[in-house]
Amino acid sequence: MNIDYHMHTTLSDGHNSHEEMVLTAIEKGFDEIGFSDHFCIKQPCKWAVDASSIGQLEEKIIEMREKYGEQINILFGIEVDYFSDRQEEIRKSLQQFNFDYIIGSVHFLDDWNYDTDKSRYAEFSSDFLYEWYFRELQNAAKSGLFDIMAHPDLIKKFKIWPETSKKQLFEETAGIFANSGVAFELNTSGKDRPCGEFFPGNELLEAFFKAGVPVTMGSDSHMKEQIGRHFGEARTILKKIGYTNITRYRNRKQETVTI
Ligand SMILES: [Zn+2]
Ligand SMILES: [Zn+2]
Repeated sequence: MNIDYHMHTTLSDGHNSHEEMVLTAIEKGFDEIGFSDHFCIKQPCKWAVDASSIGQLEEKIIEMREKYGEQINILFGIEVDYFSDRQEEIRKSLQQFNFDYIIGSVHFLDDWNYDTDKSRYAEFSSDFLYEWYFRELQNAAKSGLFDIMAHPDLIKKFKIWPETSKKQLFEETAGIFANSGVAFELNTSGKDRPCGEFFPGNELLEAFFKAGVPVTMGSDSHMKEQIGRHFGEARTILKKIGYTNITRYRNRKQETVTI
């Protein structure tokens, strides 16, 4: 099945409307897509909606389903920033909506939005950043807030490569994901970032497979042309690692379908 669970619209930081995204996905032959605009509890945040605007995201999904629901499955997802000290507020902000799935992201280390702000990298060693980032990611997985963990090794975005082997850290992370019941996404946008490879890379992907962590696919599209980018290659990699199924969601319940 052709499924893309990670896309943004003009309601957060995307360049196209819901309708433009839906029409392109239909044209590209997708069976199912999910919108995942950004929600950030810490405001102001120019690329994310605040709690009071989540209702608008849901209204758009309902409108799109009425119009195009017979041609394509349209799911209500959201990409949520994790902050260990604001978990209850995040939970409360999300509880009144009928999400199909909730994607959890670590875009911040403390208050540093490291994936848009390059100014602080010189302060830390790569190994320190990996430890810091993966502890946050592990806590996010354990929080019970999320169904899917976004771009699991986003810390490498600006070619931040570890100085020493991260095999143990990756295995530990995979074990925590498995125990927490979360899936991870194979996020194909990394290929177009400075790091030049998918999130996660092969070593972490293998650790997830060995631990039995379910996988979803997401292009992290911020414009319609990016829907399903590099998905052919992504499927090949998943199969090579050993995955035969990907995971889909309805009302926050997992189902599997063949890749
Ligand atoms: Zn993200
Ligand atoms: Zn995203």
